[in-house]
Amino acid sequence: MKPFDYVRADTVTRATAAYAARPGAHYLGGGTNLVDLMKLGVEEPAALVDVTRLPLDTVEELPGGGLRVGATVRNSDLAAHPAVRERYPALSQALLAGASGQLRNTATTGGNLLQRTRCPYFQDTAKPCNKREPGSGCGALDGVHRDHAVLGHSAHCIATHPSDMAVALAALDAEVELYGPDGARSLPAAGFHRLPGDRPERDTELRPGELVTAVVLPAATAGLPSLYRKARDRASYAFALASVAAVLRVQDGVVAHAGIAFGALAHRPWRARRAEEALRGAAPTEAAFEHAVDVELSAARPLRDNAYKVPLARGIALDVLTRLAAPARS
Ligand code: SF4
Repeated sequence: MKPFDYVRADTVTRATAAYAARPGAHYLGGGTNLVDLMKLGVEEPAALVDVTRLPLDTVEELPGGGLRVGATVRNSDLAAHPAVRERYPALSQALLAGASGQLRNTATTGGNLLQRTRCPYFQDTAKPCNKREPGSGCGALDGVHRDHAVLGHSAHCIATHPSDMAVALAALDAEVELYGPDGARSLPAAGFHRLPGDRPERDTELRPGELVTAVVLPAATAGLPSLYRKARDRASYAFALASVAAVLRVQDGVVAHAGIAFGALAHRPWRARRAEEALRGAAPTEAAFEHAVDVELSAARPLRDNAYKVPLARGIALDVLTRLAAPARS
């Protein structure tokens, strides 16, 4: 590992100033991904600005019924928070489906959003990878890509985003709050991560120096039935092969609101807008769910070795939607 400078910040403005003063700096949260990548030589920051002592470690009730989750709230604490479990169950389930107990105790909300792909070519500095080294090629395209994207990929990168939490946040219409050199702003969680296009080195819409300060869960999705389901190679401590987060409101016998997001199918959590549109105003029947999910997944472009993901994701989505609609249909 290359030597690096280290500074611990105690306020958000001091953190962004410390970052700006050190070209090549990275923010350090729980370090559960960044430190691994530093050991592999994939990340070589000139400096680490430690943000774990910032006053961003609380879950705050908002007027009107939403929740603001500070960026340094640990994944375990967020999953166990009574308000999250009761009002946003898909988020708690997604967090508990990720990583291991030890990692969840350390990983932060902001760091979870900013974790990088687990594409094996990205993690191996001897291999070509446009995300790690722009212009070097994509080793996965003709290589091992069973776990890679079926939606929204490009000739430059076919990686998937590994977060479970981010999939639930996308379905729940969460917002990501940021602070940077130009002040504060927020982005929809569903638009925080990017598709690769010809710039796969950029995972998110973050501007240089911006820090994730919080995630806001809206009152609009609080208390609605929501679920997260994940398929993986083993029962725990494995990344998703496909996953689905969904929230559903049925009113007067028809779907009044559906928020659906797929995980592990694309470079970002894939908000299923076409499926949601197909469901709006429809009776929550098996046929309606099948139609909606098929409309969404018709955009899939599987690679040589990952066509299995399409029927897998379809099956999970139908199961999730059927379970969510069950109380309204009984
Ligand atoms: Fe790199 Fe993306 Fe290709 Fe993986 S899929 S080797 S991350 S460019």
